[in-house]
Amino acid sequence: MVWGWKHISADQRKDPEHLKASYRTSDELGTTMSTSTPMKRQYSELKKQYPDCLLMFRLGDFFELFNEDAKTASHVLDIVLTSRGEGVDKWPMCGVPFHAAEGYVAKLLQAGYTVAIAEQVEDPAKAKGLVKRDIVRVITPGTVLEPSMLQETANNFLVALVEHEGKVGLAAVDVSTGEFIATQFEGTMTGEKTLNELARLTPSEILIPESVSRKAEKSALENTGARLTPRNDLDFSSSSADERLREQFHVSTLEGYGLRDLKAAIGAAGAVLAYVQEVHRTNAPTLTGIRSFTVEDFMVVDSITQRNLELVRNARDGTLRGTLLSVLSATVTSMGKRKLKQWMLQPLRNPHEIEMRLDSVDELARNGLVRQGLIDSFRQLGDLERMTSRIAFGAATAKDLVTLKDTLGRLPSAKKALEDCSSQVLKTAAESIDLLSDLRATLQSAVVDDPPATIREGGMICQGYSKELDDLKASISSDKKWIASLQERERRRTGIRTLKVGYNKVFGYYIEVSHANLSMIPDDYERKQTLTGGERFITPELKEKEASVLSCEDRINELEYEIYEGLRSKVQVHTSALHRDSDAIAVVDVVAALADVAVKRRYVRPRISTSTRIKITNGRHPALEMMLGPNEFVPNSLDIGEGGTTLLIVTGPNMAGKSTYMRQAALIVLMAQMGSFVPAKDADIGLVDRIFTRVGAFDDLTARQSTFMVEMIETANILNNATEKSLVILDEIGRGTSTFDGMALAWAVAEQIVMMRTRTLFATHFHQLTEMAKLYHGVKNVHTLARESGDVIVFLHKVAEGGTDRSYGVHVAALAGVPEPVVKRAKEMLLRLERENVVELGFRADASGEALQTSLEPLTVDDPLIERILNMDLERTTPLDALTRLKDIQEEIRQRKT
Ligand code: ATP
Repeated sequence: MVWGWKHISADQRKDPEHLKASYRTSDELGTTMSTSTPMKRQYSELKKQYPDCLLMFRLGDFFELFNEDAKTASHVLDIVLTSRGEGVDKWPMCGVPFHAAEGYVAKLLQAGYTVAIAEQVEDPAKAKGLVKRDIVRVITPGTVLEPSMLQETANNFLVALVEHEGKVGLAAVDVSTGEFIATQFEGTMTGEKTLNELARLTPSEILIPESVSRKAEKSALENTGARLTPRNDLDFSSSSADERLREQFHVSTLEGYGLRDLKAAIGAAGAVLAYVQEVHRTNAPTLTGIRSFTVEDFMVVDSITQRNLELVRNARDGTLRGTLLSVLSATVTSMGKRKLKQWMLQPLRNPHEIEMRLDSVDELARNGLVRQGLIDSFRQLGDLERMTSRIAFGAATAKDLVTLKDTLGRLPSAKKALEDCSSQVLKTAAESIDLLSDLRATLQSAVVDDPPATIREGGMICQGYSKELDDLKASISSDKKWIASLQERERRRTGIRTLKVGYNKVFGYYIEVSHANLSMIPDDYERKQTLTGGERFITPELKEKEASVLSCEDRINELEYEIYEGLRSKVQVHTSALHRDSDAIAVVDVVAALADVAVKRRYVRPRISTSTRIKITNGRHPALEMMLGPNEFVPNSLDIGEGGTTLLIVTGPNMAGKSTYMRQAALIVLMAQMGSFVPAKDADIGLVDRIFTRVGAFDDLTARQSTFMVEMIETANILNNATEKSLVILDEIGRGTSTFDGMALAWAVAEQIVMMRTRTLFATHFHQLTEMAKLYHGVKNVHTLARESGDVIVFLHKVAEGGTDRSYGVHVAALAGVPEPVVKRAKEMLLRLERENVVELGFRADASGEALQTSLEPLTVDDPLIERILNMDLERTTPLDALTRLKDIQEEIRQRKT
């Protein structure tokens, strides 16, 4: 942590008044605390600048918080709330030691707060009157640089959104890595496209214009989990943004970044830049350029699909276990880990780009030696991307410079390992790795191998790098030697065997003599301090040496800091090259990881085409396959699209593998389009523009939506937005309502999908839907096989052609431990219902034999009483309710009898 002023200067150390000086500020605030105290005025002025932030105010060795801030912080941080002052001037206060502040700030951020750091900006010992303080940094979730506040494997995006002439401008920056991107598209700030981009970027903070005060929009954006920060509308205006960006990148036009005429995108990018500059109080040195993109470049993977396919978080506990990311996580660098996640959440749609990635994975999959060489040489690399940003923003320590030097030292072997590669992606990466040998040599000669964690207290710079520093160190060392030998000399001179020479922070150097020997002290001893057992003295010569040592130490620390700053600027000059290096390493790391997984897990290279056919032979679910034992996973094939089947109706027993079969199809497509090999014997992938999934039942209680409502909203989204190029996974539709409603809806949805010609896999327990295959071209039935022997049922997990009319739900209930009498009764009921054929769908066809429409007609249910019983949703009926209804039914039957 390098926010501010050194805590105790050498001058202070020798000054007996030091402790007082150090806390002078706190006394001034603490005891008199009236509106008239200069300290309180200073605090209030600073607080006024950032009313929405918790202000951490540096006082001596502490950061203190006051008033409401103190109450909040003491609660969040679980630290004691004290107070300063008396009566009306009594301020609630709490504080944290300055050297441990980073951890406390991290906690405040996690709790959703932003923090402003008010530092002492001059040496307290040299200050005349009140020590000057200023806000040196505002720490917000979207702009942090400290490793302890960031996730190693994920980007930390700050996003700005603005609407301009019917278009949404979206810009995102990751200050910790220097990535800066912008786009614009038709829509609204909370429209479908915007929310999809936000799901992909998962920003931690979103900037919106102050004028957007509509509650609905705010809450929709807050639902993303990001902190919403309103900013002055002027920051988003395209003309001021244009100027700000040009100034930042030192260019006369933004055309080179593909931003020509993209006013909304420019507005958003300008707002992001203004914010970063403001909170970091710098010109944002790592932001050296911007990349424009269009949302159409990528397959849409919305938050629902991310969740349903368990890409980066599993559905059970939100961890990585069982996710696609965990399967592919063979990257060895931090930048590679982040890049892998980006590739996964942003699969490509351009076949040429996909093939380029596949070529590189292919090359490293075939060449195990090169692959291993690269993985080995990358394993030791530090987080070059974030290190570069920390150094450029002045948030680094000398330790970062050492890690940078070590990382640069490992680049030549990585570059060499890439030299023999021929695929375009790897060749481009090799070419863009700049070894920066001069910078490395400078760092090597300048910084010691194990520097301290602080940058203001010296000990960082190697001998031989600066003559002035070496001279100072030589002179201090001769003075220190003189002091070190003083004890012996004085013992000899005075004859006092117990005489000691020592040093303490408050009084500096001293000669200590016990009471018994005081008569033997020479005349030049000047009394400095009285102790219980003796006295401490100083001599004019020792005083002179001490002054020399302390001033020399101060100068050394200052000089080391100046040299450190010089080195930092040298690194800063190379920011762009370092970011290019990081990106190249990240790409190669991901390619090597995908190749490694492909070899280890026997994946194959998919063939990519612009047709709509998806043909997978013996496909496997990548995560489930890993969790099961060897050869336990049963592979299944799929052939869908391109004039053939577009709607595949998947029926079969519960627990027999329907969901697995459908999800694996979606995962294989997604993997192929991110540039990975796939778990199958063979795969043809006709490009997909978006994967839609509607799976299971998740209650969105926070949005006050019922299970069924959520199901219908997700279904509506699919029907409104899917195209012929999309892939849809529907795992049960209509289960959350009554049987008739549910079945009618499932039928109608399936029919609509047939019309849309969207490739769809539809699992259902409404077996009546299998009839659609007879009625519509492009509909096919498959079912998961189960073998029944007596009362035992074995799920074979094999998908076979044709439909089934058995769900084995009662068997599964028995397996799950539902009590025997209930299972027995259910079997009786099932038999009865099947015999009576209570629910059946009827169809009408026109003369040509094509179905025109379907109608839902219960053929045998004509008694309203029976229909009432059938319509009871037992899952949603409490026992008491059931009894009440049973009583009503009994009543009615009795009445009919009489
Ligand atoms: P339901 O209808 O109850 O939702 P389902 O038919 O969708 O069930 P899945 O959830 O896909 O069934 O699978 C249930 C379990 O069966 C999985 O957790 C897994 O353990 C196993 N399984 C599924 N498919 C396979 C397979 N191809 N090979 C081996 N095991 C499998």
